[in-house]
Amino acid sequence: METHLNLATPATYCGRFAPSPTAGLHAGSLVAALASWLDARAHAGRWLVRMEDVDTPRCEPGAADLILSQLAGCGLLPDDTPLFQSTRFIAYAEALERLRLHRAVYKCICSRKDIEQHWHALSRKKARHAEWPYPGTCADMSHTLRTNKNAHAHSRAYAWRLRSGTHDAPLLVTWQDRRLGPQTQDVTTTIGDFVLKRADGLWAYQMAVVVDDAAQAITHVVRGEDLADNTPRQIHLQARLGLPTPIYLHTPLVLDARGEKLSKSSGAAPLVAGVQAVRAALQVLGLTPQASALNEVLAAAVTEWRVRFATQPN
Ligand SMILES: [Zn+2]
Repeated sequence: METHLNLATPATYCGRFAPSPTAGLHAGSLVAALASWLDARAHAGRWLVRMEDVDTPRCEPGAADLILSQLAGCGLLPDDTPLFQSTRFIAYAEALERLRLHRAVYKCICSRKDIEQHWHALSRKKARHAEWPYPGTCADMSHTLRTNKNAHAHSRAYAWRLRSGTHDAPLLVTWQDRRLGPQTQDVTTTIGDFVLKRADGLWAYQMAVVVDDAAQAITHVVRGEDLADNTPRQIHLQARLGLPTPIYLHTPLVLDARGEKLSKSSGAAPLVAGVQAVRAALQVLGLTPQASALNEVLAAAVTEWRVRFATQPN
């Protein structure tokens, strides 16, 4: 696997903030939004917003509008109309078809329980919060159907998985994160062949992100550190689709008093947009601009960011 060491700044920087509209922003998601905006402005680049609403049942009516108004209240205005992933299903289907023609994907009828049982049978343990890696049971589907004792195997709903190395030739992805430094992941052992389209028909996060980052010509991804372990899967999928790999920067997370990641599900307080919220988010990023008005705080923060990440405007 080749190393992705893209340190040169392309001529047309384009960054994005990509929230899921399941609720409004909270302190943690504002940090991610602000970091991506600061990096775009520090590069004199474009900054886009993308609503990651592929998982439509989880989305909340009105949340996208709320997020956009909260961003505006913090002085963060996208340079183009926001892209909604729920309008992009044809593009995802085309990408899947391309992979299918290259036999890079296969159908999988395994349930979560099937996968768990596979590892239990081998007495394997897994870390807290971790998912079981996919053992590749359906990689040869004809074999699976021949040997499956379930008479309904042929009619079971199936997911599509991307081939990601084998036991004998594991897929190692190496990349350079602007903050975390050199990173490596053995995708085969830790994740296995991963889902691009779920058995319930919903598109997986990895597929939507990769196809849309390319469609929006994103050159730089700046997002929270909790998403860093998705990066190797996305780099692998980009390579399989012949798409460029952006430059990555993963920012620190906002933790609550118990040291857990602040999130909507952990009951993080809704964000009151404005200069106070922006200041708090900047502090998480290690920036302390000396100014009072919102536009001055943001301008000073861009200058500080530029020094910290040695970015140069185009
Ligand atoms: Zn399977």
